[in-house]
Amino acid sequence: MPTPNLQIPADLLPADGRFGSGPSKVPAGRLESLAATGASLMGTSHRQQPVKDLVQRVRTGLRELFSLPGDYEVVLGNGGSVAFFDLLTYAIVRERSQHAVFGEFGRKFAAASSAAPWLAEPAVVEAAPGGLALPAYDAGVDVYAWTHNETSTGVMAPVERPKGATADQLTVLDATSAAGGLPLDPAAADVYFFAPQKSFASDGGLWLALLSPAAIARAEEIAASGRHIPAFFDLVGAIKQSHAGQTVNTPAVATLFLMAEQLDWMNANGGLAGMVERTTASAEALYTWAEKSSYAAPFVPEPAHRSLVVGTVDLDPSIDKDVLRAVLVANGVVDLDAYRGIGTNQLRVGMYPAVDAADVAALTACIDWVVERL
Ligand SMILES: *Cc1c(COP(=O)(O)O)cnc(C)c1O
Repeated sequence: MPTPNLQIPADLLPADGRFGSGPSKVPAGRLESLAATGASLMGTSHRQQPVKDLVQRVRTGLRELFSLPGDYEVVLGNGGSVAFFDLLTYAIVRERSQHAVFGEFGRKFAAASSAAPWLAEPAVVEAAPGGLALPAYDAGVDVYAWTHNETSTGVMAPVERPKGATADQLTVLDATSAAGGLPLDPAAADVYFFAPQKSFASDGGLWLALLSPAAIARAEEIAASGRHIPAFFDLVGAIKQSHAGQTVNTPAVATLFLMAEQLDWMNANGGLAGMVERTTASAEALYTWAEKSSYAAPFVPEPAHRSLVVGTVDLDPSIDKDVLRAVLVANGVVDLDAYRGIGTNQLRVGMYPAVDAADVAALTACIDWVVERL
């Protein structure tokens, strides 16, 4: 079906039509700040004080946002979250991990552990798409791994140590899309890792991790064990470099700058609690609309599992999601695509802290307007 030529009335349109699940909306004015105050950092050495100060601004901003316990460390490096899956297999899993899998990102993480020949085959607890799987006590594992927010399905998980877990069993959370938009008790996670292109309104390519003392001790133990660890996955090196406001190899400076600006905004607007208020308001606007709609419904059946930051909505089969999305894109409302491989007739809405709840409400009004005319 060709895209109908439908012009959504201007007063219905969101002020900002970017609803991507990552990379996601970069607030207005940020690139101008980069040009104005970040320009002096670009094209200069990352081993000099100005860039070291920028790295420390990001580390301090995260420490404040998450009210990190004093003995936790904020560590960063290159490669993004998927590279960090591999890093964990070198630097944190001693012998065997357990993975709770309830979507594609959790599955990739489990696959990385499974592919590492120096590790035993991981234990996997799995739920069907739209459901939630949680780690459960297993005496034979030294890591419990799960996803705080499964970006592929829009399911969020609690962050709690499995009942009965011992102090030597680390909790490792892929929080790439959760960090900064979902509540967190940082003491429940030993490794809480993420990337800048979701709630932090920046660009991809870096990983950041909050590490507990037990996680740091594990990294040191494994590094001293004689296991071959490629330099790219050297977590002990990254911890040392991060202390000094450095990374093992050259970081993307503009990415760090945009992230530091977003962290300042988050901390000035109520910190994590303030951000969760924003994502909660957006999620309410989306799911309330979907529940009332005659042709849409939340994809995740259990309301408590419905993500505050990535909302998934299934449409009646009579609506062609591709035509609907094409009309929206022609009107400047973009990136509502479901995750690749999710087979349902679905829209997916990024509702990170930078997104205004009023824009999510406007989005639902635009969808109604278009669907009435298809
Ligand atoms: C986006 C995302 C990733 C991948 O992040 P990259 O930085 O692109 O490697 C991994 N896990 C989750 C949950 C994500 O949302």
